[in-house]
Amino acid sequence: MTAIPTVTLNNGVEIPQLGFGVFQVPDAETATAVTTALDAGYRAIDTAAVYGNEAGVGKALAASGIAREELFVTTKLWNADQGYDATLRAFDAGLDALGLTHVDLYLIHWPTPARDLYRESWKAIERLVADGRVRAAGVSNFQPAHLRRLLDGASIVPAVNQIELHPGLQQAELRALHAELGIATEAWSPLAQGAVLGDEAIVALAERHGRTPAQIVLRWHLQLGNVVIPKSVTPHRVRENLDVFDFTLSDAEMTDLAALDRGLRTGPHPDSLN
Ligand code: NDP
Repeated sequence: MTAIPTVTLNNGVEIPQLGFGVFQVPDAETATAVTTALDAGYRAIDTAAVYGNEAGVGKALAASGIAREELFVTTKLWNADQGYDATLRAFDAGLDALGLTHVDLYLIHWPTPARDLYRESWKAIERLVADGRVRAAGVSNFQPAHLRRLLDGASIVPAVNQIELHPGLQQAELRALHAELGIATEAWSPLAQGAVLGDEAIVALAERHGRTPAQIVLRWHLQLGNVVIPKSVTPHRVRENLDVFDFTLSDAEMTDLAALDRGLRTGPHPDSLN
């Protein structure tokens, strides 16, 4: 089985560089999808309270018989649950649905800047870390201004910022800031939900390497140092997306892919989602 490399976070915790996302997978189908992923060799699962499928994830984890310390489970605090007390309550509910006693990574899902509650929410997450119920604390969809505001008064620097990132939206500014602050970049919609898989340059590289376009895109992420969490409910794609550790894109090929950056968003803009 493929050994998945890890990225060491700023608190020493190791996160598998390639994990499995379950956005838009109905709860009743989630256990099957996660079981397929675990059988294929994935060990990191990315869910969220708002996906409504933490229970399905938990069911598959429990049935797998895989030791808890070999698994890496991420879930996220939903927008409506921001604020100090509400965060603690929402975390308990998520843990309960997952059937776990701790999560490996807990993220504030969106900054929702108009509510301006993310600093209070972060205080609650810092307490969950101190209590040993969260191994690493992070954020998602934070723009540079949100990160700076969060850091002002925070005692923990986020370990991760999970952002929309793929060849159509390469996020140079955020990636540079993350490098400066010691925050790992995690790419959501790493395949742009399929929207970049027909790009001419990607198709050409796929033909050259005898790979699929999705494998080229995932390889590009890995070589940039991104953590990636592709989603698929199609068993052969689940396996295909993991089969990306035995080839390399050249510097010239990486440069070809850099040219595909075009401000393509598949999801909302973090400044305006409230
Ligand atoms: P992805 O970029 O992972 O794309 C998923 C889509 O691509 C599905 O339609 C899937 O189809 C298809 N696909 C997957 N693998 C292949 C392949 N090898 N060849 C062709 N098509 C393929 O999009 P997501 O939006 O799901 O993002 C991944 C994860 O990121 C989510 O599941 C979630 O965990 C996280 N996320 C986080 C967000 C946040 O705000 N923090 C926002 C959005 C996502 P099929 O399933 O039918 O096989």
